[in-house]
Amino acid sequence: MNYSTATVVPTVKLLIDGRMVESRTTQWRNVVNPATQAVLARVPFATPEEVEAAVSSANKAFQTWRKTPIGARARIFLKYQQLIRDNMSELAAILTAEQGKTLPDAEGDVFRGLEVVEHASSIGNLQLGDLANNVANGVDTYTLLQPIGVCAGITPFNFPAMIPLWMFPMAIVTGNTFLLKPSEQDPMVTMRLCELALEAGIPPGVLNVVHGGEDVVNAICDHKNIKAISFVGSTKVGTHVYHRAGATGKRVQCMMGAKNHAVVMPDANREQTVNALAGASFGAAGQRCMAISVAVLVGDAQHWVSDIVAKGRSLKIGAGTEVGVDVGPLVSCAAHDRVIALIEKGVSDGAMLALDGRAPPVPGFESGNFVGPTIFSDVKPGMSIYEQEIFGPVLCLVGVRTLDEAIDLINRNPNGNGTAIFTQSGATARRFQEDIDVGQVGINVPIPVPVPMFSFTGSRGSKLGDLGPYGRQAIMFYTQTKTITARWFDDSELAQRVNTTINLK
Ligand code: NAD
Repeated sequence: MNYSTATVVPTVKLLIDGRMVESRTTQWRNVVNPATQAVLARVPFATPEEVEAAVSSANKAFQTWRKTPIGARARIFLKYQQLIRDNMSELAAILTAEQGKTLPDAEGDVFRGLEVVEHASSIGNLQLGDLANNVANGVDTYTLLQPIGVCAGITPFNFPAMIPLWMFPMAIVTGNTFLLKPSEQDPMVTMRLCELALEAGIPPGVLNVVHGGEDVVNAICDHKNIKAISFVGSTKVGTHVYHRAGATGKRVQCMMGAKNHAVVMPDANREQTVNALAGASFGAAGQRCMAISVAVLVGDAQHWVSDIVAKGRSLKIGAGTEVGVDVGPLVSCAAHDRVIALIEKGVSDGAMLALDGRAPPVPGFESGNFVGPTIFSDVKPGMSIYEQEIFGPVLCLVGVRTLDEAIDLINRNPNGNGTAIFTQSGATARRFQEDIDVGQVGINVPIPVPVPMFSFTGSRGSKLGDLGPYGRQAIMFYTQTKTITARWFDDSELAQRVNTTINLK
């Protein structure tokens, strides 16, 4: 962590009770441009009192917000989606500066979050209960989907716009209040999105933000007035959050690490497939939880290695602000060093380094955290580059003889975030869709992140908890189903005998 007492750089604010406030902490970290190492801002690690103030404000606001009419809630998000659209270029520029991804990809990051905001504004059709008429004589049963209270979100560095927008819009539009803890590595675009949310009309206390690391996350897990936590990040931290917060009876959903395999059948369209592999493994410098990190080449597709390498080599590496760049820098020096160490481990473990992206020349940005597209062939399970999530622009190629072998390999991997198959055969694709044990499947689609009318449905080792972070599953996550069984008597109705049975008579 970098500690700094300099005051020349701006400070990232906390959002408590509707106001952007300066933290009183003594612990700060620099937010750094990964292409230049320029310090963009300082982010505070909030004090226990500040976390308490944020939860208390959210708790107070819940008492009125929970009863706010549906139309009023929906209109805020209608306005919010327009504000995000109007400020798209500014949001993308902030995001690229602090995170590193290219400007078009940063717009994509904002846009995939904007889609959730659009969906939230149709809450009138989403938060509907059920009703069964005459379940017994004169008795009706119906359900209410009621908000649960103060909910919290803990987000990772790699999608600082999309992932916060997966969380607070759905939580708030269903009548909850929210405490967000963004990634301390790139909190600035998240805060700009929060400013716009206030401008859209979110009342004081309904959305709060605290910054920090382990201590703040633990305080959120332990707080008795927080009822639910949505976490997105690494498997190590997500597993900790799930158990710690679960111990206090909270609802918890954790979307975690991945090792996404793409199966390449020999009948696939070669050019489209090679393009898709390159885009999905090297885009965002591989820092996507749905990035393809393993391509499983089936049968004759094993002859495509040189095409895949040529495509990887053709991509342009550079700062995300530069026109025509495909691969930006890794988020931090630590991330850079970790990826380089894993590449070195791949070499010493005996994988064939078919394209070496270490130390690429990037004129004008010599101090950036760049690693170029890197490809290993002859990768085998058991090697570190296969077993670990690299989270960098590194693609592992594994050869197998048949689709059965490919399915078996993927189903044996503990992760279950995403997978894809490239083929021109409907029968092959359908067989894959049926037998693959992974929560999100692409058919000739390399990164199958569902749109918001569906939910993000990663599975197995990539997820803890039952319900996903947006779509229909988020409505269930952020509400408590209350089931009412009602009978209304006419005054004229004759009193019956005492019913001592469980039956509704
Ligand atoms: P991370 O786990 O390091 O950080 C996530 C959050 O946890 C941050 O807000 C961070 O401040 C906090 N945190 C970090 N260390 C902590 C600790 N020791 N105790 C408590 N809290 C702590 O993840 P990251 O590096 O920011 O993000 C990359 C990871 O996120 C990758 O593993 C990626 O696969 C995963 N991810 C998963 C999804 C998904 O939907 N499955 C989406 C995006 C990212």
